[in-house]
Amino acid sequence: MKHLLSSVARRMATSEALIRPITMAANLLMSSRGCLVTFHRGASSQAWEKLPNRDFYLDLDFLDQFLSYLTERGWDVVTMEEALHRSKLGKANDRFVNFSVDDCYRDTFEEVVPLFRRHNLPVTLFVTTGIPDRTLPLWAAGLEDTLLNNGRVILEDGAIDVPTTEAKQAAFHRISSSWDGPEAAARYAAFCKLNGIDIDAMHWKHAISWDMLEALRDDPLVEIGAHTVTHARISSLSPAGARAELQGSRDRLIERLGVAARHFAFPYGRSGDCGPRDFEIARDAGFASAATTRKGLVRNGQEAFSLPRNTINGAHRSLATMELHLTGVTGAAARMSGRV
Ligand SMILES: [Zn+2]
Repeated sequence: MKHLLSSVARRMATSEALIRPITMAANLLMSSRGCLVTFHRGASSQAWEKLPNRDFYLDLDFLDQFLSYLTERGWDVVTMEEALHRSKLGKANDRFVNFSVDDCYRDTFEEVVPLFRRHNLPVTLFVTTGIPDRTLPLWAAGLEDTLLNNGRVILEDGAIDVPTTEAKQAAFHRISSSWDGPEAAARYAAFCKLNGIDIDAMHWKHAISWDMLEALRDDPLVEIGAHTVTHARISSLSPAGARAELQGSRDRLIERLGVAARHFAFPYGRSGDCGPRDFEIARDAGFASAATTRKGLVRNGQEAFSLPRNTINGAHRSLATMELHLTGVTGAAARMSGRV
């Protein structure tokens, strides 16, 4: 009897050892899988090539291709609301993608949303309310525009020639990193004066306006979420300061658009930029979810206030790279190397 039992136990152990990896692989293949993707600005391939800060822009011809690719391969492109709902349901074989545009510039209205509309697919906009309110200086956009459209620009310590795309790109990175920080707005204002730039006109050349947002609000394919008032790094603020950024942007969207945003995205969004305290603040502010930019996939039972999101930018121009996001490989690689 004893011998029989142990042989049964041995057989069971053997079959379990065989089956376990198979079940694990099947779970990976069959379980519900969601990929949240975010980017900032968009430009056509032709315009993209010449942009001094082109990594900040997604090539819209590539996005066009990628949207067709997803639809052909059975991925559903959904709103954040629907993504959350599906992550709770955890239906086998469910495959969904959400696209969100952070900050919101004029090209969100003029180019990005129209592209989603042509595909009849939804898109989420995480609005930084200081942009349409004209309280957040878009200094990087203004610097980039000036370099793009002039062969020579004047800096505080003299003029520089920027005749080629390469020279414009190098100048953008050099100047923007020297301005970055609390002095950026003042440095940019001085630069505008030296170069005869109408700072107000330059703002509206790149910003989204409340009129544009009103039109987008009425589009059934557009979901509006919040992305703070001043694009602050939330983890660096006092609890009251953090609440003012989250609650303030939510209140402003209610006031200006009549939209009680249910979803929030943290600026920058890496693990050093937002943490457990901030996830709680998002919940208290009345949001139903908050997204980070930690890479990875949304799976069944995902915690809603620290959603992983994959940033795609100018360097993302191949479907193969996108497949790495869709299968969760980039998320796993980031966790292994500690780049969260
Ligand atoms: Zn942002």
